[in-house]
Amino acid sequence: MKKIAVVGAGISGLSMANYLEKHKIDYHIYERRKKEDLAGHGFLIPQEGMDYLYQIIDSELLLQHGNFLKKYIQYSHTGKILAEKELNNVFAISRHSLINLLAQNIAPEKITYEETIIPDEQQDGKLKLSDGTDIDADIAVISDGSRSRIRRSLFKNETMRMVRESEVVNIIQNKAIADAIDNDFMKFHHEEGGLTFGILKLADDTVLWYSQFDNQKYMINECSAENLKKYMVDVFKNWHPLVPEIIQKSHYNNVHLWNVYELEELNPFYKNNVVFIGDAAHPLIPFTSQGVTSALKDSFSLTKYLVEEENTETAFNKYETERKPEIEFHIRNGRTLLKQFLLPLHQQTENILPISYK
Ligand SMILES: Cc1cc2nc3c(=O)[nH]c(=O)nc-3n(C[C@H](O)[C@H](O)[C@H](O)COP(=O)(O)OP(=O)(O)OC[C@H]3O[C@@H](n4cnc5c(N)ncnc54)[C@H](O)[C@@H]3O)c2cc1C
Repeated sequence: MKKIAVVGAGISGLSMANYLEKHKIDYHIYERRKKEDLAGHGFLIPQEGMDYLYQIIDSELLLQHGNFLKKYIQYSHTGKILAEKELNNVFAISRHSLINLLAQNIAPEKITYEETIIPDEQQDGKLKLSDGTDIDADIAVISDGSRSRIRRSLFKNETMRMVRESEVVNIIQNKAIADAIDNDFMKFHHEEGGLTFGILKLADDTVLWYSQFDNQKYMINECSAENLKKYMVDVFKNWHPLVPEIIQKSHYNNVHLWNVYELEELNPFYKNNVVFIGDAAHPLIPFTSQGVTSALKDSFSLTKYLVEEENTETAFNKYETERKPEIEFHIRNGRTLLKQFLLPLHQQTENILPISYK
């Protein structure tokens, strides 16, 4: 069996490594950040994603690290209930916990941290270590995220654009607030559209919150980290009291402001001996909540075809044929959810769930 280099140790790279490990295929992962830097906030994972996770993580252990959400409740910004929907096994987990669980099955000698992989601009498909040495592998699986430098070096004509939504994500450690939220996923919406505040419990004393801004209406991108809290306090001051309370009581040392990007058109998922998975193949906007599930399905499908097919190109082709239509569906759905978000509440008609389902 061929030797595989995996670039990036996010959810896609680590899940790929887990599937390769299951099939005893030789691989090495390279990650540009430090092991302890790989923290982050949290994910919503629908049932389908959980089914893929159960194949590589002990289910009892996985369930100890997160929380099933029972109900999605959509509120106006002042707290009037607009709609409710039962959630069918949607799991909430911190990124940090999921990364640790995925990394625990990987032997330390199979992963190198603080190693940035560089595309060789002279030779399509050749990758180098930061010291200029060629990477010793037959196949490169690229999972270096939505703004993949390796993808851009292979597909020079791609167009990436910033999405008309930015997100502030943070975590608050507060048992009383976590108890009050229980297992509900609460999301508050401004009547005029383009502004929301979502809350969900990750653990007994830990709550994830995120706020989505129409970045043409709200100048959130121009805020420095230290001004973010002031801006949030001001924008949300007249909302349901739970919202300003959470904003006030949170620490801002780990707050993150996400600018979201998407590809105008998807590239092929492979070229020569290089194949892309997860956000590197197909950035998905957060409205879909399908980033993790898609990353897991990509790694599962690619591993399956690498095992079944002698010829690498046939394996890549079957992987792309299986995965691309579903990704295109989520991209279209994500764009519909974005349009809804930008509209005033009374004009929002479609799918109240902040998840793209097939
Ligand atoms: C605000 C926000 C909220 C989201 N919420 C959800 C949600 O609720 N549910 C969900 O399913 N998804 C969600 N997503 C999407 C989800 O985060 C991603 O789809 C998912 O994490 C897949 O990531 P990945 O492993 O493909 O890429 P990443 O997580 O970006 O990982 C890429 C890794 O590659 C490393 N890297 C980059 N370049 C190099 C290089 N040259 N050499 C070596 N290493 C490199 C990076 O350091 C990083 O560790 C959200 C995204 C955002 C922005």
